[in-house]
Amino acid sequence: MRTISSRSQISPNRQFRRHPIARRPLRRCAERKTTTSSDAGASKESSIQSESTDVTKSPYYRELSKDVDSIDATLLTNAPSDFFELLDLDLDDADVWASGDEDLVQTTVSKAFKKKLVISHPDVLLSKYEDASEEETNEFAVILNAAYKTLSDVQTREPYLNAVIDFRKHFFLEEETKFDGTPVSKWSGEEGETRAVFVDESVCIGCANCAQYASNTFSMESDFGRARVVDQWADDKETIEIAIDMCPVDCIWFVKRTQLAALEHCMKFCPREDPGIMGRRRGGNGGSQRAKVNPFCAAESFLKRFDENGELFGGKNPAGLSFSWHDERLASTIAKAWLSLPEEVRQKGWPDFKHKFNSFGIGGDSSVEDRTFLRTR
Ligand code: SF4
Repeated sequence: MRTISSRSQISPNRQFRRHPIARRPLRRCAERKTTTSSDAGASKESSIQSESTDVTKSPYYRELSKDVDSIDATLLTNAPSDFFELLDLDLDDADVWASGDEDLVQTTVSKAFKKKLVISHPDVLLSKYEDASEEETNEFAVILNAAYKTLSDVQTREPYLNAVIDFRKHFFLEEETKFDGTPVSKWSGEEGETRAVFVDESVCIGCANCAQYASNTFSMESDFGRARVVDQWADDKETIEIAIDMCPVDCIWFVKRTQLAALEHCMKFCPREDPGIMGRRRGGNGGSQRAKVNPFCAAESFLKRFDENGELFGGKNPAGLSFSWHDERLASTIAKAWLSLPEEVRQKGWPDFKHKFNSFGIGGDSSVEDRTFLRTR
């Protein structure tokens, strides 16, 4: 698409033109200020400047409730985020989890729990490490006990395990897809620019209008045949706005620059429907339900994972606590408690910890049968 020359160089009145493929009315042309070259001047400059500084004034704007720069940076590091990771238990091990042998499962969980308890018991930590705090070591002990209690009881293990599978699908942090707070797209905008452009690829139908019109900014990716912003502000604002208006499914948004990294990261894990099925549905000819996961919802959940206030236990010590669910708050609590352990203990008990997640459809090469064994028991 980049080979197509920019129409902005051909037509000086391009703001009044419309791509013939776009069938719907221009989305917000009444709201948009279409300033012509004759009245370009102070008013245009001040209008553009005020949009640049006040991102919420943009008619194509959508935002998340939390910014990436407000998250707890320590939680960006690799840290166990569920009870299986905390006890170093491999969910891929079908010989255990799909064995149907409850004794084997109990023994495996119990062994793993004791191994971690030996090195992380509050008495051990407080006697050996001067910096260890009573509150933090107790918090970790509560979580470790909760892990044992949850996984050793079949009533809680089954629902918890399924919740973890779903959770990992959206929070996978393998090396190549690890979130480090950096956007994927290139930045060619002004330093003071607060907006970025983002395509919701779960809605995009791959018509290529945007990539043909604003060809420096948008490109068609080859895996799913959807449009993607590859270079932020590589076209001028007007060209980008017209490209947005050409989108027949309204899936291109201005977003806060500070939220772009989370959205682009979460977009990697959102399902894209077959364009043929989407087309049939749009034509009123049935087809499956539209995908429920979209990058905005996924990014909201993802950022909650890093919530600094995710203290699940509130300083209390609820003995015998177990869980039949797993969510961002629990993941954050587990990760924070683990990160509070002395470095030496973490190295000893979880040498070179890395999220293990190669079996649930992302990043791995396991067969479909392997991936679904846990669900089909
Ligand atoms: S983002 Fe919109 S205009 Fe661009 S390819 Fe997708 S559907 Fe078409």
